[in-house]
Amino acid sequence: MSQRTKIKALLESEQTQIEVTVKGWIRTFRNNQFIALNDGSTNNNLQIVVDFENTDPSLLKRLTTGAAISVVGELVSSLGKGQKVEVKAKQIEVLGDSDPEKYPLQPKKHSLEFLREIAHLRFRTNTFGAIFRVRNTLSHAIHTFFQDRGFVYLHTPIITASDAEGAGETFHVTNFDITNPPKTETGEIDYKQDFFGRATNLTVSGQLEGELGAMALSDIYTFGPTFRAENSNTTRHLAEFWMIEPEMAFYDLVDNMDLAEALLKFVIKEALNKNADDLEFLSQRLAEEEKQKPQNERSDLSLIDKLQFCLDNDFQRLTYTEAIEILKESTPNKKKKFQYPIEGWGTDLQSEHERYLVEKHFKKPVILTDYPKQIKAFYMRQNDDGQTVRAMDILFPGIGEIVGGSQREERLDKLEQRMDEMGIPKEELWWYLDTRRFGACPHAGFGLGFERLVLFVTGMGNIRDVIPFPRFPKNAEF
Ligand code: ATP
Ligand code: MN
Repeated sequence: MSQRTKIKALLESEQTQIEVTVKGWIRTFRNNQFIALNDGSTNNNLQIVVDFENTDPSLLKRLTTGAAISVVGELVSSLGKGQKVEVKAKQIEVLGDSDPEKYPLQPKKHSLEFLREIAHLRFRTNTFGAIFRVRNTLSHAIHTFFQDRGFVYLHTPIITASDAEGAGETFHVTNFDITNPPKTETGEIDYKQDFFGRATNLTVSGQLEGELGAMALSDIYTFGPTFRAENSNTTRHLAEFWMIEPEMAFYDLVDNMDLAEALLKFVIKEALNKNADDLEFLSQRLAEEEKQKPQNERSDLSLIDKLQFCLDNDFQRLTYTEAIEILKESTPNKKKKFQYPIEGWGTDLQSEHERYLVEKHFKKPVILTDYPKQIKAFYMRQNDDGQTVRAMDILFPGIGEIVGGSQREERLDKLEQRMDEMGIPKEELWWYLDTRRFGACPHAGFGLGFERLVLFVTGMGNIRDVIPFPRFPKNAEF
């Protein structure tokens, strides 16, 4: 096997006048002389200089955008602008041709919408190469953060019989012939005859099972896919998305917030350190995009400044009740600019409200705590006021909610009372309630939506562009 060097390493090489082998895909071929070659190891292309006078014209014709080639040549200092080194080709082999008449990716700017339709090829663009390298760094950083703190990575089930929050937005999993499922005597679908002997669905969250792990291992985290059949065609929702869900025994809400804030800062810092070129590229991309917007909607900070700003500032912590007061008195509320006006205490916040708090009022990430119990899940710890629960949501600029978490209710009687009030069947969650019967302790956890994090760090505007193959209503291509 020939020794092949990745382009990233060559561009950083201190040594020149050495023979190298490079392999990659042609981005452009100019003047029959200069190939811009990319192999995905970096956003930057390597320039290959072709000695066209001594190259077979039939080979030159095959050096087209998209073709895969292998090049043996000499790494030399470059006289051209924009690169330190280039490769003087001695031998070029076309490994895979790409018909320029048919290849959908032309060396020009394509719209993100068009690229979504050719998601199988969009990895080959600068933008998507950068996004998926950043996504990779963030994913690695999440594991590093938790592993360094002694957390146990726990694999919670993908197929489950519980609908964690009773939200009902689940995808069913069945082996039945759906045109003719077996029925009971009373005419209902007889799930006893189904594969698992009961109705099952894809998980919407691994939290409840995660808590079981934390009640023995102390600190656990999950990092896996979750599925929600929510018909919300928004730029922040996917039907299949990845979630990170840590659960910690002996943590209260403040410990929980501290951990979430430290996690977000750590992973953003890792991306800034490891993906400087990619983020620089994405930062410029965003600046170009912002130029299309009216002056008053443009952000004063570049993407990189925004990320740095997150690292340098403490997240603003306040209660839901305090936030409602701010929103009630806010200019857009008084001028009736909110689509959902803030009328009083108790309603859920819409993303326009979250973004007002973060982007206009505090101008930094915000953690809201102590929400009204009626808008939060049954497992959140009840406060003594009888009205609120120990919940926390972290809100980010441009994103809205990025983290949702709480201190969990560890008191069996309080938990059961809340389940009764909310109509959650206690029999089905007998195993969850057992942790409150045997060795219950204060504990807390949160869920971080991974794609919302990638959205924030890459500065992209649509969540469909930060996961390789997005799943959303009416789309499961690739
Ligand atoms: P939202 O109000 O934005 O729909 P949620 O309250 O339903 O969020 P949780 O159930 O608390 O969210 O889920 C935890 C985290 O998972 C959220 O903070 C968010 O980052 C992410 N998330 C939730 N739903 C989706 C989705 N459909 N696609 C991508 N990420 C999601
Ligand atoms: Mn939701």
